[in-house]
Amino acid sequence: MKHISIAIDGPAGAGKSTIAKKVAKDLGFIYVDTGAMYRAMALYFIQNAIKADEAARIEAACDHINVSIQYIDQVQQVLLNGENVNHLIRTDEVGQMASASSVNPKVRLKLVELQRQLALDQDVVMDGRDIGTYVLPSADIKIYMTAGSRERAHRRYKEFLEKGMECNLDQIEKDILVRDERDMNRDFAPLKQAEDAVYLDTSNMTIEEVVTKIIELYNKKKEN
Ligand code: C5P
Repeated sequence: MKHISIAIDGPAGAGKSTIAKKVAKDLGFIYVDTGAMYRAMALYFIQNAIKADEAARIEAACDHINVSIQYIDQVQQVLLNGENVNHLIRTDEVGQMASASSVNPKVRLKLVELQRQLALDQDVVMDGRDIGTYVLPSADIKIYMTAGSRERAHRRYKEFLEKGMECNLDQIEKDILVRDERDMNRDFAPLKQAEDAVYLDTSNMTIEEVVTKIIELYNKKKEN
């Protein structure tokens, strides 16, 4: 039986993971967070004192990295060489390294196979930057989700404050713009809207509205 896949792509802070998790829960699908996989690889580079601009060392290190995932209570856990690193990958340092190292095709190809296999094995909602365009070009539903950079920065700012972390709104917006630029302009599998993706600007939408919209699209597709 062919499994269903819903691909959600878009820039940093667009709300992809929050929405994807809820859609997956409502439909009884598995949520696959591909950013977490890039973060796990980035953690390895940091732990081994490899810098983002050392392409040859990054590529050599790829041969020593194994990324896999497991689910505990339906929450994705990323394993780096067999160790659960979920609690280590959400820092700004890891995010910056993930953004910089994920331009490298060898890093990307290392993860694409795992991502495709996950979608072959079960119904998934997968979020990332290149899911609808490269990883799952035949996904049943494709969403390109975005929001204005100030709004996205504001959402990140609120998240940091809730975690008790110190932060600066202007700096967060600057970082987001740097990441967008890198994601959209890399040579291999850049972030862009797939031709058959539905464009959703979530700047003025609530989480519930976005979730409802995606589930409507899915139900419509099922009827056809
Ligand atoms: O989504 P998240 O912030 O966790 O992703 C970390 C970084 O990994 C992003 O800044 C992006 O550059 C990269 N990424 C990617 N392709 C994906 C998912 C994430 O290039 N499919």
